[in-house]
Amino acid sequence: PPDTAELGRSTWTFLHTTAAYYPLSAPPPVQNNMLNLLSSLSLLYPCNWCANDFQKDIKVNPPDVSGREGLMKWLCMRHNEVNRKLGKQEFSCQVKDLDIRWKDGPSD
Ligand code: FAD
Repeated sequence: PPDTAELGRSTWTFLHTTAAYYPLSAPPPVQNNMLNLLSSLSLLYPCNWCANDFQKDIKVNPPDVSGREGLMKWLCMRHNEVNRKLGKQEFSCQVKDLDIRWKDGPSD
């Protein structure tokens, strides 16, 4: 089986980075692509219990794919859901903190 920690870090990197560069206001076809990505991920993710919980979580909390800020916050909350489950610290879901981590880096 895959290394779930390494797989998780890589997947979160991909998802948060993609959200950080998502259109500020996404046209419908782009919103559709993101919905397809997230739903496919929840079906194909190669860690069964992770995928099952993620499917349940996004059913209760449908993705906000309208634009960048909403998507970044939504994804941060889904990641915090997993953080809570694993007893990890929660991350700030303010856009400014997400931009520093996933887009701009810390200012000098
Ligand atoms: P990660 O949680 O991988 O985080 C990487 C970096 O992201 C952190 O160092 C931090 O800088 C940043 N970060 C942390 N929280 C947030 C946030 N809320 N928003 C934005 N950035 C943040 N593992 C399991 O053992 N069981 C599971 O059920 C499980 N389900 C998962 C479901 C999904 C959809 C994914 C993608 C991963 C899942 N994982 C699961 C893996 C788990 O989330 C972690 O990736 C793994 O435990 C490694 O954790 P880590 O401490 O290295 O940091």
